[in-house]
Amino acid sequence: MLNEKVFSKNLCDHCLGRLYSGLLSGHTSEERGKAIRLSMAMMIDSGKVETKEIDMSNFHDFKFRNGSKPGKKEKCWMCSDIFDNLDKLAEKCVKRLGNLEFSSFLVGSKVSGQIHAREEKMWEINGIENVETIKTEINRELGKRIERLVKKPVAFKRPDILILANLEKARYDLQIGSLYVFGYYSKRKRGFPQCKWGTPGVYKTSVQEIIAKPFLKATESKHNSFHGGGREDIDARCMGWRPFVIEIEKPVKRKISLAKMRQEINKGSKVKVKSLKFCDRDTVVRVKTERGEKAYRVTVLFSKPVDKSDLKKLYKLKGVISQRTPTRVSHRRADLVRKRKVLDIKYKRISSKKIELMVKTNAGLYVKELVSGNGGRTKPSVSSMLGVEATPKDLDVTMVQKTRNV
Ligand SMILES: [Zn+2]
Repeated sequence: MLNEKVFSKNLCDHCLGRLYSGLLSGHTSEERGKAIRLSMAMMIDSGKVETKEIDMSNFHDFKFRNGSKPGKKEKCWMCSDIFDNLDKLAEKCVKRLGNLEFSSFLVGSKVSGQIHAREEKMWEINGIENVETIKTEINRELGKRIERLVKKPVAFKRPDILILANLEKARYDLQIGSLYVFGYYSKRKRGFPQCKWGTPGVYKTSVQEIIAKPFLKATESKHNSFHGGGREDIDARCMGWRPFVIEIEKPVKRKISLAKMRQEINKGSKVKVKSLKFCDRDTVVRVKTERGEKAYRVTVLFSKPVDKSDLKKLYKLKGVISQRTPTRVSHRRADLVRKRKVLDIKYKRISSKKIELMVKTNAGLYVKELVSGNGGRTKPSVSSMLGVEATPKDLDVTMVQKTRNV
């Protein structure tokens, strides 16, 4: 196991010990390196090992009895003594963290191509069965030091902050993890979209902007993403509660009061929120993919009077609806015929040319087209059932099924 070829280059205790990381637990690479070096020094002193191929700098602080000459102290051939600088590097990283609020972090490091090449060279000499990479050791050793300085733990899964230490260029970059907050919103007014990106400049506000505003201020963030569990049309209200996750990007502050956020948002009359809670990225996927039941209320205007008794035909809409992608959304959704379900339908007659329709569906049914028929693309429809033109007006989402397990 004591391979003198390992000593053909001058290595520090860390770089030496990492070649044997897989052996014994409870020891650092540095300790392993010291032990291996001491053993080799004794082999040399016993005269059992030829020193011709050995870089004797490895033994600069040993005193041999058999006349072997220790070399001069030199920097580690592999790492140039990086590990001696880790305390300083840790301090630099902490400085870089500034006033960022976080509860966990992780270190990732980058070393030069030369270090990697030399590391591989040593692996060729001594085998890779028990090695650990230099990056892994730096990450761990730097992590330990930063842990002590900031008194926050390293987290391998979803750290708030990822510290990227480029040791070659002496650069320390931070990747700040987003802050995620789950909640339900209700849109109480018509005429503005859910997200701002859909129609830049056209609408003065959006559900996203209203909800994001106090969050951005409190977290000192500039950007956010909004993930809604479905969305309502610009001209529709959502009187039920729709699940969402707001993602605050690169927050400086994380310890914010959600009760205060709720109060701030709910001061306005357009959007209300409730049940805010911190969540993680998984919740975004859950909110976006969950397809629960929804209920709608819509006013329907007829092109000509419809008999009271004829309206009963509307109950037949309960069941499967075949719906080809509506013309109004065909620019952003594939042109397909989808099977959707009307789970329940009720109506209230207001006049011979006007009713209020209440529809319960599984997700994905376009209610406006269920009313109008969209030129035969939705079948059957209110229009086809009654044999009149039917126009939807004032659509409200009245219920969105709750997201489970959030
Ligand atoms: Zn080294």
